[in-house]
Amino acid sequence: MSTPVNFPQIEKSNLLGMNRQDLEIFFAGMGEKAFRATQVMKWIHQMNVDDFQEMTNISKSLQQQLTDSAIIESLEVITDQLSEDGTRKWVMRLNDGNCIEVVFIPDDDRGTLCISSQVGCALDCSFCSTARQGFSRNLTTAEILSQVWLASRLLDEEKKPGRKITNLVLMGMGEPLLNYENVVKAIDIFLDDFAYGLSKRRVTVSTAGVVPAMDRLADRHDVQLAISLHATRDKLRDELVPINKKYPLKELIAACHRFMEQRSPRSRLTIEYVMLAGVNDSEQDAKELIKLLDGLSVLINLIPFNPFEDSGYTTSSNNAVRRFQDHLMKASITTVIRKTRGEDIDAACGQLVGKVSDKSRRQQKFIKPRFGMNS
Ligand code: SAH
Repeated sequence: MSTPVNFPQIEKSNLLGMNRQDLEIFFAGMGEKAFRATQVMKWIHQMNVDDFQEMTNISKSLQQQLTDSAIIESLEVITDQLSEDGTRKWVMRLNDGNCIEVVFIPDDDRGTLCISSQVGCALDCSFCSTARQGFSRNLTTAEILSQVWLASRLLDEEKKPGRKITNLVLMGMGEPLLNYENVVKAIDIFLDDFAYGLSKRRVTVSTAGVVPAMDRLADRHDVQLAISLHATRDKLRDELVPINKKYPLKELIAACHRFMEQRSPRSRLTIEYVMLAGVNDSEQDAKELIKLLDGLSVLINLIPFNPFEDSGYTTSSNNAVRRFQDHLMKASITTVIRKTRGEDIDAACGQLVGKVSDKSRRQQKFIKPRFGMNS
């Protein structure tokens, strides 16, 4: 009688996270020509196919070989919510049980998908609810791609006009520039004509100011960069965006200048500025902001603070936001007030929380003492 042999399980490659170069190497390893890479990319990203048997311009034998050695695996949708204003939010579960959030924001002529780059966030910005979740890990390129792949499939199923992804913003959970390698590879695929074919102006990386990675990004991708500035003085920014202690304003602004020097003269850097009542919304703040950004070509996005429990901050009044905007506009700086979207489903900026198995133990800091324990 023969005893059953337990062969080690060979992990199949997930093609979803492979850029064109990876796929070419993958196919070369199978003795296939490079053009297979673009063929398969089109099936995956343009036709939303995840079954090799449906790839009709590929021979049956290659389809079988692919089924044996590879997989197109995306995330699992746990919740799917539609806001009154058309914003749609998904909670997606990763293989390890962690969850992330993804938001689709339709506007007049565009559809923006806000995606996550990490599970939780390590930066601990004081006004952001994602920060309270602590940090677990970086997302893989496949997990970043899955968000776009799944969202575009689910939006297609709605069969409604105006529900297409035209813009991608890395403004969900996490700090994209602390997951540099996986993020830039994902951007390769966003921009590739055989995949999503998005123009570089329609892909935005938002950063709290990881200076060395800003320099690296400038060399690698010509995408839109947004800086989460929020303060004009180091003392305040240290408190709001603690990574400022590592890369203070002087270094951050110098990095912005270097970044823009590599861009076409017409391009603009986006500056995000969350409006916190009595904290950073005075006339003096506006004046300092104008001075700080002198010589940079920018578009300022004023973001009304989205409150959450025990945040300790309140949103600036409409009047204060408008006054602030007026000051900047008078200094000829294009300034827009970001509309809050998807409020009824907690899909607004800084409200994305997912489910994070926190390795930073930061969640504990915010657990409220039970009655009688704090006396
Ligand atoms: N880590 C990156 C991207 C994620 S945050 C970054 O810092 O840019 C995306 C944007 O939402 C940032 O500008 C962030 O500062 C802002 N944000 C976070 N919490 C917010 C809140 N409660 N209200 C409004 N904007 C918030």
